[in-house]
Amino acid sequence: MNAAHYDAVVIGSGFGGSLVAHALVQAGLKTALLERGQWAKRDGADWDQRTILLQKRYRAASPLLVKQYGRRTFQRTYPNEVVGGNSVFYGGASLRLRPADFARWPFSYTDLAPHYARAEQLLGVHGEVDTDPYQPPGLEAYPRRAVELSAPARRIYQAGADLGLRPFKLPLAINFSDRTRPLCLRCITCDGFPCTVEAKNDMASTVLAAASAAGLEIVVGAVARRLVQWGGRVEQVEYVDSASRQAHALSADLVVLAAGALNSPALMLRSGFDHPLIGRFLMRHCNGVATCVFPFRTNPQQVFHKQLCFSDFYEDLRAELGTAVGVIQDIYTPAPPIIRHHTPWGLKTLAGMLASRMQSLLCIAEDDPRRENRVSLADEQDVFGMKLVQVEHAYSNADCRRRDHLLARAEAVLRQAGGLLRYRYLIDSFSHAVGTLRCATTPEDGVLNVDCRYWDSENLYVSDGSFMPASGGVNPSLTIAANALRVAERILEKR
Ligand SMILES: Cc1cc2nc3c(=O)[nH]c(=O)nc-3n(C[C@H](O)[C@H](O)[C@H](O)COP(=O)(O)OP(=O)(O)OC[C@H]3O[C@@H](n4cnc5c(N)ncnc54)[C@H](O)[C@@H]3O)c2cc1C
Ligand code: SF4
Repeated sequence: MNAAHYDAVVIGSGFGGSLVAHALVQAGLKTALLERGQWAKRDGADWDQRTILLQKRYRAASPLLVKQYGRRTFQRTYPNEVVGGNSVFYGGASLRLRPADFARWPFSYTDLAPHYARAEQLLGVHGEVDTDPYQPPGLEAYPRRAVELSAPARRIYQAGADLGLRPFKLPLAINFSDRTRPLCLRCITCDGFPCTVEAKNDMASTVLAAASAAGLEIVVGAVARRLVQWGGRVEQVEYVDSASRQAHALSADLVVLAAGALNSPALMLRSGFDHPLIGRFLMRHCNGVATCVFPFRTNPQQVFHKQLCFSDFYEDLRAELGTAVGVIQDIYTPAPPIIRHHTPWGLKTLAGMLASRMQSLLCIAEDDPRRENRVSLADEQDVFGMKLVQVEHAYSNADCRRRDHLLARAEAVLRQAGGLLRYRYLIDSFSHAVGTLRCATTPEDGVLNVDCRYWDSENLYVSDGSFMPASGGVNPSLTIAANALRVAERILEKR
């Protein structure tokens, strides 16, 4: 196959891929970025809850086969796929891990700190320092000031303070103040939805636009199918055009894999890489939501309120379990049709009627890296002739303990705020998937070295969430972004 040649080919346009591609192209490297999704449409339907959450407007052509919660069979789920990856759907919460979270990592918080600061700049994070009781060292200022709390967030803030807790404003990668770009309208279809006006600082709206202007070639609808190896190097990347199903190839001096923590290991397995830990140690956080029904409408103005975070319980179980517990954050209540859809028969009408009186808190708990939690390949093939990605996952007792520790405390806050009836539900998506190509100091302990280069390849790097040796107790995106900047720096130093 004739292949155009590039200095670098990057696979995947989430935080991991876009930030590396941006750095490489700025350093003058001829770079192509392959992304299997298309650009998000950014029209009114992107804020329609049915279109995005139920009809799944951006659902991938290839399903994931998932076995979880002790079930015996695999179930099909369809992740979203667009240019910008999950950054387009994320909630913008941008927190750093804490120094103690790096106990199992081959580098320290101090090594990552300058890259965290750079990532916060690039993502235009709005935040407030000296209010998080476990604020990591060296965080002197955020690039932009946190905005005022809206009424639903103030209700939670006051309840937390009444209980002696120290809630703080969640650092957010959303544009509230830069008038050279579209400003946030403070809607409630943010977390889980593309931003129609591009005020969310996702990769497609910010970094990729800059990288493209600097010369990055973005190939959309390009499904990377195989990395072709020769003499300890990756020589070519084969991909299929999702519309025409035609196969193509690019050759490159350097390949950066950033297809996300489920797809990156799958691509390596399909390409014949044989490190025994590829796909192992999948983590996803152990997340749950505490909901209360209030005797009043909780958000009659339908305003933005994913604005608060509690880290008070972060260190409660570190001595006993060796990990953080995690954090509690504001989360939106879905619209009545979505609540009805997810409620069991018999309760649907009641749940829909109570939706406007609900308020909820998201509990994000660290989960253990366990070898048996993994990504592998199924025998079944997708429409591109590739073996499907198969995911097997079970939580440990310690994972559930950390989550329940947070859920009980979140419920106390909601009750203090006036909540009456309580309800808990678990988050069973892989939205925080990390860890499947972990980096380590030796090849026995991890798939990647400290620079996130595959041990047995001179020119294959990984820059998405796969590299994480532990999930830590905060949302992963800022850590993925900071590490991608670190990896880009190491690549450029080596050249
Ligand atoms: C609804 C939602 C809300 C979230 N909210 C937050 C939050 O508030 N804060 C936070 O920190 N985190 C949040 N997260 C998690 C965060 O978005 C992810 O951790 C992060 O975006 C992962 O980045 P990544 O680069 O590792 O991978 P991804 O974002 O998964 O990027 C991988 C990219 O590779 C592409 N790809 C896959 N396979 C191929 C292939 N074979 N060929 C070509 N391209 C391929 C995919 O389409 C995708 O674009 C949220 C996630 C979701 C889903
Ligand atoms: S809250 Fe702001 S950033 Fe989020 S989707 Fe609405 S307008 Fe966009």
